[in-house]
Amino acid sequence: MERIYEIQIRGIPVKVERKSIKHLYLRVRADGSVSVSAPLRVSKKRIEQFVEEKLEWILKQRNTRMTSPSPSESPKDYRRKMENYQRILTEKLSVLIPKWESATGLHATQWKLRDMKTRWGSCTPSSGRIRLNLQLAAYPTLCLEYVIVHELVHLKIPGHPKKFWETVGYYFPEYKKARDLLRQGIPYSSPGN
Ligand SMILES: [Zn+2]
Repeated sequence: MERIYEIQIRGIPVKVERKSIKHLYLRVRADGSVSVSAPLRVSKKRIEQFVEEKLEWILKQRNTRMTSPSPSESPKDYRRKMENYQRILTEKLSVLIPKWESATGLHATQWKLRDMKTRWGSCTPSSGRIRLNLQLAAYPTLCLEYVIVHELVHLKIPGHPKKFWETVGYYFPEYKKARDLLRQGIPYSSPGN
C-alpha cells in the first residue's frame, strides 16, 4: 500500500498520507492545497467518501484563503499581483461594461475596482455605483461577465428575490455555471483568460 498518493475529488487534487493514527484528518493549506491524513487500515473508498462529505467546507476554505495573500507571498509580490489584476480587468471592462450596459439598458454612474475579501461585487442603487473585486481577474471572463450583470440588475432589484435571478438568467443564461466556478474558488493558474 502506498503511504502517500494523490486522489482527485471533483477536480480537486487531494494528497493522502497514511499514518498510524486513529481518525481521518483533513487540511486545507493557505495556498489552497488539500490533504488528508488517514489511518493505515481505512479503505481508499472510505477516504474518498470522507473528502466528498467535506467538500462544501473545503470549497469554502479554499475560497477565503485563496483570495488572501498566502504566507509565501510577500506584500510586495501581492501588490504587484493586484496591479497586474487591475491592468487585466481595466482592459476587459473597457469592452464588457459598454456591452452589458447596452444589453440590459442599465447604467452605473461609476465602476470601481477593489480588492475585496468577501464579495465579488457590490452595488449601491441610491448612488448608482458598482464595485467589482480585483480577484475576478484570476477567473474566466464568464465569471466577470456574470458579476457585471448581477450588479447591474441590482440597480433595478435590490436583494435576491426570485425576480432578481430570473432577470439575471434572462440576460445571462450561463449565470449558474459562472456562480459555481466562483463558489468553488478555483481560479485559473494564469490570470487573464
Ligand atoms: Zn447580489
